[in-house]
Amino acid sequence: MPRPPVRGLVIDFHCHLLAHRHVKAWFESARHYGIDRFVTMSPLEEAVGLQRDYGHLLHFITVPKFQDPGPFWVDDWLRRLEAFYNLGSRIIKFHMAPGTMNTRKWRLDSPDIRRIIDEAIARRMIIMSHVGDPDTWYNGKYQDTEKFGRREAHYQMWERVLSSIPKDMLWIGAHLGGNPENLGRLQDLLDRYPNLYLDCSATRWMVREISNRRDQARDFFIRNQDRILFGSDQVSGDERGFDFLSSRFWAHRKLWETAYIGPSPIFDPDLSEENQPTMRGLALPDAVLQKIYHDNAQKVLATVGLAFPE
Ligand SMILES: [Zn+2]
Repeated sequence: MPRPPVRGLVIDFHCHLLAHRHVKAWFESARHYGIDRFVTMSPLEEAVGLQRDYGHLLHFITVPKFQDPGPFWVDDWLRRLEAFYNLGSRIIKFHMAPGTMNTRKWRLDSPDIRRIIDEAIARRMIIMSHVGDPDTWYNGKYQDTEKFGRREAHYQMWERVLSSIPKDMLWIGAHLGGNPENLGRLQDLLDRYPNLYLDCSATRWMVREISNRRDQARDFFIRNQDRILFGSDQVSGDERGFDFLSSRFWAHRKLWETAYIGPSPIFDPDLSEENQPTMRGLALPDAVLQKIYHDNAQKVLATVGLAFPE
């Protein structure tokens, strides 16, 4: 496959390279699709070895100890924040999807999480959040709103915290701010918070919802070309070889770069067998691709003293 039409490195700003033992298939697939560098959410225990052997290809996003199920311990997260910071991480992720908030018993605006946010502010880190989830989930597995809350309340929670951080610190809303179904909401957030960026990660979700409103999404990307970062949300795994990883990179590249209209190679479990999405590529102009694959990522990293040397 030809490389993306980009001068310089192609940067995946949202991915999960979960273990050192996954690197072979990961880098093989990434090389094939012209993805050069990765901003990854790797567990601390794996980040150390990844840093040693592949540090020039990676930057790390600070994450808590997700391997442990159940409620979290703020002290452990604070220790990890410091350890990740010592490894060079300058971005911290808060996973505040409705399902996660319910199982972990945390909220973006709770006092415990605020301690961690304050520490991140003191260290001048970029904050990334996952707020919201697909409409298909709100209409499905999150229907018990007593338990999971409503989308509106989740975005009010996000805005309470987003508006409370210093204006010169950046915030990245993962997965198009968790609401690609409502580009109007996203435009409003981008307009009111100049320090907000969005990544376009999550393959099946983007394939389904971007394709669904293809022309409107294309306008949105062109209008906000300085505020959107390419991310795949690729997740490595022991059973995930070249073909699995490639299906994700392939779908992203087709979706952003081409006018492809046709089936997706990835089954969408949110839709019935007969109702699988038809992909409709945005065929974004080269100048826009240059920004979302490269320029915006380097610009955002530079605000915290990081870069991927070209
Ligand atoms: Zn992710």
